This record gives sequence, C-alpha cells and structure tokens, in this order.
Amino acid sequence: MARKEEPLQMRIGEAKQRDVGKKRARIGPEAMDFLRVTPGDIIEVMGSRTSCAVVWPVDEDEKFPDIIRIDGQTRKNVGGSLNDFVKIRKVTSKFAKAVSLTPVNDSVTVDKEFTDFVKNRLKGLPITHGDEISVMILGNSMDFKITKTSPKGVVKIDRSTNLSISTESTVDRKVRVTYEEVGGLRNEVKAMREIVELPLKHPELFTRLGIEPHSGILLYGPPGCGKTLLAKVMASESEANMFSINGPEIMNKYYGETEAKLREIFKEAKDNSPSIIFIDEIDAIAPKREEAYGDVEKRVVAQLLALMDGLTDRGNVIVLGATNRPDSVDPALRRPGRFDREFEISVPNEDGRLEILEIHTRGMPISDDIDLKDLSSELHGYTGADIKSLCREAALKSIRRYLPEIDLETEKIPSEVLQSMQIKLVDFYDAMHE
Ligand code: ADP
Repeated sequence: MARKEEPLQMRIGEAKQRDVGKKRARIGPEAMDFLRVTPGDIIEVMGSRTSCAVVWPVDEDEKFPDIIRIDGQTRKNVGGSLNDFVKIRKVTSKFAKAVSLTPVNDSVTVDKEFTDFVKNRLKGLPITHGDEISVMILGNSMDFKITKTSPKGVVKIDRSTNLSISTESTVDRKVRVTYEEVGGLRNEVKAMREIVELPLKHPELFTRLGIEPHSGILLYGPPGCGKTLLAKVMASESEANMFSINGPEIMNKYYGETEAKLREIFKEAKDNSPSIIFIDEIDAIAPKREEAYGDVEKRVVAQLLALMDGLTDRGNVIVLGATNRPDSVDPALRRPGRFDREFEISVPNEDGRLEILEIHTRGMPISDDIDLKDLSSELHGYTGADIKSLCREAALKSIRRYLPEIDLETEKIPSEVLQSMQIKLVDFYDAMHE
C-alpha cells in the first residue's frame, strides 16, 4: 500500500527579492527530507486556501528550520500572512491542456501576440484554479486570476497549452501591495506590523487583554520615500480595506462639507472593517495654530478628533496620517489616544537604495553589464520615487535604442523586439544625466 504522505506544518516567512514572482517556496533540508522532495519539486501549501509552489533550498544563513519563505502573492494564494502556519505536502503537477485567465483590475486587448507573450512568461510555473499570478510587462505588473484549468489540480503551462485570456476583468477593491514591494525601512515595517496588522487581524486579542490598540499613527518624512506605499502595504497584508483622504483636497474640493465628508468616510471604513484610513498631507487639515488656523480648521480638527475617539472601542479601524512637515501639524492631534505613534520615513541609505532598485527593475530585462550594487552607490540622495522613475526612464531609453522611429502611442511593438530587448547601463546613465 502506498504510504499516505503526511502534511508538514510550517510557518510563513518573507521571500527574498530575487524570488518574487517565481512561485518559489524556500524550505530547509529537514523539511525536504520529511516531505521527500528535492529542489524543483512541487508542493501544495494549505492555509485558508490551497495553492502550490516550487521547492527551493533556503540560504545558508537561514536561522529558522520551520520556516517556508514565499512571496506576497503566494501568501495571498494560500490565504496566509507572515508567521501564520500552513500545511505542506508533495504533489505532482500535470501538464495543462487548457487554462483560462481573467485580468484583475485591468482590461486588456487580447490578441494572439499578447496571449503568446503571457504564455511564455508563465511557462513552467505550477498553478492551480483560483490562484492569482502577475506577469511583468515592461516593468509594470499585470495580475490575472486563474479561472479554469483542465485537468483540475496543480498544472504547468507549456507551449501546447491552450491559453485563453478573458477580455473582461474582475475588480478587486482590496489594495494589493506586499512587503516585498518596500525597499529599506526594515525596522519601520517591523514596528508597524505589530501596531497595525496585529489589531486589524486579531482585534479579539486586544479585547481579551483589555488594552487599547493605537488608533492613529503619523508617518512623516520627505515626499517619495514610501509613506503612501507603507499604508497600502499595511492594508494589503492585513487584508483590510483602505480609504484614502487627501488633506488639501478634502479642505478645498469639499469646502463647507469637509466635516460631513470625513464622517462619511469614517462610517464607510467602520462598516467595511477591518479598514485603514489613510490621510495624506494631514497638515492641510490640521495645521498648527500659528499657520492659517481659522474657524473652519478648528471645526474640522474637532470633527477629526471626535471621529478618532469613536474608533477606540474596537481595534479594527486604524488611521494613518502622513505629512512632509511634522512640525506644522496641530499638537492636539499628537496627544495620547490620537496620533500617538510616529514613524520617520526618511530618504534611503545605500542598502535601501539597492533594495528599491531590485524592486523596480524586477521583471525588467536588465543586461549583464549592470551591477545594481554599484549603481545604488551612485544614487546618493535619490528617494524611492526617484529610483522608480529612473528605472522607468532607463527602460524608455532602451526602447528608443531599439526603436528610434516607432510611435509608442499608436504603433504596436513587434513581439521579436519585445522578447530580445535589454536595458543597459548606458540607458541608466542617459536617464540619470537628463
Ligand atoms: P510618499 O507617500 O512618502 O510621498 P510614496 O509612497 O507615494 O511616497 O512613493 C511613491 C512611489 O515611489 C511608490 O509608489 C513606490 O513605487 C516608490 N517608492 C517610494 N519609496 C519606496 C521604497 N522605500 N521602496 C520601494 N519603492 C518606493
């Protein structure tokens, strides 16, 4: 009789940058022995959902033998977050005769070239019905949901798979940004996870312990360093809905109705909890008294404080405020029970810049003459947003090298060119010295 393979319980850990988007699961040698798998084999990973991944060895410096390192998308596919337990067992994948995909939040023009391009990118990856997968197209990621596979179970796409892509897209309101999208800011992310993710995911813990979670957190630092990004990541990884308020906009566009609008957003956030309310440029709503502090501001600040006070009974709505000018924020907002935790989100150092470069060149065809570490040492003073736009510009420069004449707005790029394109160091230098 065949031995029934026992599933193994492991704890989810964050993936390395180089594994993102590759459906890899790094596990240690003991786990491999137990599961009777070797690198390259496929495993089934069961959290609140079930998905699959390719076994990959852990790095030598891995400290935790019970950890399985998977990227944000795989975590989503298996229905688990960092530190959650999942069960794992070996599976065999079948060849996919047919696979249907539906774009998520994007509509596309589907023709044979596009379908072939996507098929090429997905070739060899194990997939299963209900999974979401991303395909990088010129540095932008496009998400698809696997809506059907034939046969059922874990399958692999190859050249002869009949791939069909729906022209209709599904809409998913939940923001989808994972921890692996954030470069640098390791300590900030770690601390924020505890005070944001924990109460949003396990409000019962706080009720049980009789402690009040923080309901407001202030992020401050220069523009483009990742405050908004962090808010999105926190919402996404805590499976919370995100409601955004732009300070100057709510003060001006809704002039006279600002307080009503605030109440409406807070109510919606409560009704759809767990939620994160993100208030960008909060200094516009609650400026310091010396600066333009009229009756309107006073009323709006009072309303905001009242709304925040109303949140403290349960930990499932958290307000994140962001500002480039922390000194311009009304001190009343920074008292206990309000925005009583603060994080400085500053310009990245060299290590941070390297991680950000890795993130924004992910999926780009980078030529061998580029050493990202060397490049990061040359980008002193660049913010995350600067690095992102540098990568994009470099990609555009490379397109211009291949296709000096083409009108990118109207003409289609031939697929041979798309497949053979590479971004070189000279493209980065051209982009830097504009
Ligand atoms: P802020 O809110 O601080 O002004 P954003 O979060 O809006 O900055 O940053 C703009 C974009 O720049 C982000 O969407 C992201 O693509 C990129 N970016 C900024 N900081 C980082 C970072 N630390 N890691 C990766 N990308 C970043």
